[in-house]
Order: sequence, then structure tokens, then C-alpha cells
Amino acid sequence: MRFSPQLPSIYGETVERLTERLRAMGEPPFRARQVLEWIYKKRVTSWDEMINLPKPLRSSLASEYQLHPAQQVLIKRAGDITEKLLLELEDRSYIETVLIRYPQRGVGQEIARTTVCVSSQVGCAYGCKFCASGLDGWKRDLLASEIVSQLLHVCALEDERGDPDRKRQEAPFDNIVFMGMGEPLANYDNLVRAIHIINADWGLRFGARRITVSTSGLVPQILRLADEPVQFRLAISLHGATNEVRNAIMPINRRYPLETLLPAAREFSQKHGRMLTLEYILIEDINDSFEQARELAKIARDIHAHVNCIPYNRVPGLPWRRPDLPRQEAFVRVLRDAGVSHTIRKEKGDDIDAACGQLRLRKEKTAV
Ligand code: SAH
Ligand code: SF4
Repeated sequence: MRFSPQLPSIYGETVERLTERLRAMGEPPFRARQVLEWIYKKRVTSWDEMINLPKPLRSSLASEYQLHPAQQVLIKRAGDITEKLLLELEDRSYIETVLIRYPQRGVGQEIARTTVCVSSQVGCAYGCKFCASGLDGWKRDLLASEIVSQLLHVCALEDERGDPDRKRQEAPFDNIVFMGMGEPLANYDNLVRAIHIINADWGLRFGARRITVSTSGLVPQILRLADEPVQFRLAISLHGATNEVRNAIMPINRRYPLETLLPAAREFSQKHGRMLTLEYILIEDINDSFEQARELAKIARDIHAHVNCIPYNRVPGLPWRRPDLPRQEAFVRVLRDAGVSHTIRKEKGDDIDAACGQLRLRKEKTAV
């Protein structure tokens, strides 16, 4: 389904397009940057607050554009670590954005690094067997404005809290990961446009190297990215170190099996001179054997990748479970012994349905 909003949101505009549009409205070129500064630096949420714009221009803008294309309907918190925002779009679709605070040791104190996990589609067409996002299939791609809007909602939340150590002009988080609902590379053009807006000096001015795009393994798009000058990081959801295991849990592997996926991954990392991340959810008795660990270590060494192990988050209605701690440790030990760079994620926010897609799924099925 292709979605056209009643009015386009200004959050999907680049400075170039906005300048053109304003020129057609008889405005001087500098107005575009003025408008964008109100949105991304001062982070106002109404046209009337843009007080250095003439009133008639503010009303023309209001008749040409909407501001937020997504409304916040719910925030769920798990302790002070995870906050999950449920957003409603104009067509009454729901998406999720999660804010995660990872405690980290700073000089003599605990500091929190915040990561925002954003959605790229409503639902997902790829139907991985363990994932809540794909359970009801794909509904539609998100517009670039709907991707940017998720981040502006998080900015509003954090700005309101007003951490005095943060300058208002910067985005109030440290990392952005496209690991929410949807397959970002299946929504390529909107993804790239949104990242351009997030990254631009006239936009959120957020460093592309602090943005990670996660894919289940869409080979043509990975190869396309390899040839483009993108600066963001790429993570590949591997979850199985042989075709046999991957086929059993990720239908995409039948289209792009390991013998095509891994060379594409290598090409991306060689052309960009950057280490890739392989994500590996640990699911009991499915992919957590020593043999899989050894194969995974081989792959990681071969394509020079970092491995991020993620203990599985239970999804209601699905039978999968995470292995117990000793088993997780045994798996990771194989990677360590093989000299593979790796991390194991300590799950945050399990109790607020932090695994992608779960909150939205409940909202669509019942009232939350
Ligand atoms: N579609 C993309 C990005 C969204 S999913 C992808 O698949 O990479 C983001 C990550 O969350 C993926 O690695 C995905 O496999 C993982 N994930 C999905 N369901 C999960 C669950 N129940 N527990 C832990 N991780 C999960
Ligand atoms: Fe889609 Fe990623 Fe979930 Fe697979 S893991 S169904 S690709 S969102």
C-alpha cells in the first residue's frame, strides 16, 4: 500500500526542496534555513512560535505542510532504563520508538548513553519466525517525515526533562539504530532521505557514524549501499551460521543464502573501510549450539565483523526462548577463544515489550 498524507509533513523536506517551494511562494532563499532552524535547533512544535517569520508566511506554511505526522499515544517505562513511545500515524497505523539508556562507566561516575531505536515500516514483509514485527505482515513503508518525526518526539521528551549538561541545539541522544519495526533496506529511498535530514547541518546535525542500519540481509540493497558514499554503520541480522539454521527461522535466506549474503557484506565493509556488525539472537535449541558458535566465529573472522549476541526476548504466542545464562556464556566463550570481537547484550526493558513490534501488535489487536 502506498500512503499519501492529506498534507505533506515538513519533516520530510530537505533544505533544497524547501528553498524551491518557498521560492515558488515568492519568498527569499534564506527563509528555508530559518524555518529548519526553528524545527531542528529550537525544536518548536507550532508555526506560531516561529516568530521571525512574517505572519502571512506562517499561515501559508500551515496550509502547505503539517508539522508532526505522528502523534504520541502512549509512553511505557521500564525503570529508568527504557522508554517506549507508541505513535499513531495519520492513517491510524501504529509504530514504536524506543529510548534506551545504557549505564556506562565514565571518569569516576556512571554516565548514561542513550540510544534511540526507530521503526522504518509499519509491520514487516520478511516474516522471521521469532519476530513480533512480522507476525501480521507488512502494511506500508514509512515516509521519510515519519522516520524523522520519531526522533523529534524523543527530542521533545528529553528536552522537556532538560538535562542541563546538554546544549539544546544538539540532539539529546548518543546513537540511533534502525532496529525497530520493519526492514529498513526495503524502504531504501525514504531511509536514505531521512538519514540525510538527520545528518545535515540544517537538520538534526547528528553524526552518521552514530547511526546503525540493521538488515535481515537484502543483498541487492547491501551492494547498492556499498557503492554509495553513506557514512552510517551497517548491521546484519545473521541469527544462524549455516543455511540450514537460517532457512529454518528467516525466510529471506532462501532468496539470499549465506553464499551470496556474506560476499555482499564483505564488499560493503571493504568499500567503506569499516567493520560490520553481525547480530545474533540466541534462541534456545535453535541456534545456540557449539557447532553454530564455531561456524559463526569462522564467518566473523572471514569477513572481519564484530558479533553482537542478543539473548532472545520472548514474544507472546511464539514458542522460542532464550538459553539460560551458562549456555549463553558457553556460546560466547567459543567466540572469545577464536579471537572474535564480540559483545553480549544485557536485555533492557523486557517487561515493557521492548522486543520490536510487540507493543504495536498489542495495540492493533486490543486496547493496550
Ligand atoms: N528488519 C531489520 C531491522 C529490525 S529488527 C533486521 O531484521 O535486522 C532489529 C533486530 O531485532 C534484528 O536483529 C532482529 O532479528 C531482532 N529481533 C527481532 N525479534 C527479536 C526478539 N524477540 N528478541 C530479540 N531480538 C529480536
Ligand atoms: Fe522483519 Fe527484521 Fe523482524 Fe525479520 S527480524 S521480521 S526482517 S523486522
